[in-house]
Amino acid sequence: MNRREFLESFAVAAVLPALARQDSAHEWGSPVFDLHFHLRPQPARNLAHLDGAGVTKANLLTRGGALDQVKAAQAAAPGRFTWFNSYDVTKPDAEQVLTQAVKSGAQGFGEMKFHVAADGPELRRMYALAADLRVPILIHFQEVDHTPNEGTWSTGFAKTFGSILKAYPKTTFIGHADAFWANVSADYHDEAVYPAGPVKRGGVTDKWLGDYPNLFADMSAVSGNNAMARDAAFTPDFLKRHQDKLLFGSDCSCGDGHGAGYNNPAAPQMTGKCVARETLSVLKRSTSPAIFQKIVWGNVHGLLRIPAS
Ligand SMILES: [Zn+2]
Ligand SMILES: [Zn+2]
Repeated sequence: MNRREFLESFAVAAVLPALARQDSAHEWGSPVFDLHFHLRPQPARNLAHLDGAGVTKANLLTRGGALDQVKAAQAAAPGRFTWFNSYDVTKPDAEQVLTQAVKSGAQGFGEMKFHVAADGPELRRMYALAADLRVPILIHFQEVDHTPNEGTWSTGFAKTFGSILKAYPKTTFIGHADAFWANVSADYHDEAVYPAGPVKRGGVTDKWLGDYPNLFADMSAVSGNNAMARDAAFTPDFLKRHQDKLLFGSDCSCGDGHGAGYNNPAAPQMTGKCVARETLSVLKRSTSPAIFQKIVWGNVHGLLRIPAS
């Protein structure tokens, strides 16, 4: 049975209670929305990852002029893709380009990954523009190089981002990557890419998710996975505490949604694994079905104002 026949068979079975239908149709017991999926050039390769990993819909992260590719992906799978756009924030036309992307249908900015300070002028004007256009801004925070000379991204998170959250209350921020997730622990001092071991309670990321209604968390990548997998005594309460602020994402580069070709030199334990599957597994075993469904499906629909169907 191909996917269309499979879906049609469920449409016919509309007499079944909605929840039972949903459970049996989805590998994870809930439909899944991947907030952090980098657009792949061929439409079929996007779908290979979604279908392989049991993902229903995804948000395509694009940079610069990508409208034709986005449209091709959307045409290949109607209703399954939203998109965000990013553009070099050091360029003078950044505001103009991103405004045009939103006018063309982009539902957010991101991922913003540039060698600038998190509280510097380049990103500050993006925070203001995101508020004006009423779209969220997804930011990659990283203080430690993965490879020599990689450089760092949106620096100063732990020291400065609290004041940014306060200064831009109308901006919806989505935090992501190494420094964002390492700082769930209060003892992080930019020493490891993916810190291991027990989480020291009271980290700034945990605190700010509680304190600031304009901060959300993108759980993608090894950084998000590591933060949820490193301390089984920490994770269930964290998920419960921030159940309305957490958004599942993969940031996975594997080919098939089962780990083919995945290789992250900073995380050898993930070689050959699919980050989407690994993170969905840790979330599923760490929380209730109701909270799981919010994190992997419900929350993002509210945030992006798209119908959850
Ligand atoms: Zn990133
Ligand atoms: Zn994958």
